[in-house]
Amino acid sequence: MANFSILVSLMEFPKEKKLYCKKCKKHTSHKLKEFKSGKGRTLAMGNMRHEKNTGHGYMGRYKYVVFVKKQNKKPTFIAECSVCKAKVPYSLGKRMKKVTQN
Ligand SMILES: [Zn+2]
Repeated sequence: MANFSILVSLMEFPKEKKLYCKKCKKHTSHKLKEFKSGKGRTLAMGNMRHEKNTGHGYMGRYKYVVFVKKQNKKPTFIAECSVCKAKVPYSLGKRMKKVTQN
């Protein structure tokens, strides 16, 4: 079990993988690309409401709260079907330190 954390922290992903395509209704080869989220709009209604409600006092919590940030992120990919070019998000749902594609 000790080696398991090392295996998960450094993960190699293939550039192409066979996945099920909902449009073609069969397994086809998909191109995997790393997903990077864009910038959120600052004037969006939800963002304005969030800014209005937060930042006042201790926000209903106890004064001394130890906030621990998670060190790793769950990597997400965008899988593009080679036949119909449909894009689907694809992820393993595991936290990893580094992801490389070969
Ligand atoms: Zn397809």
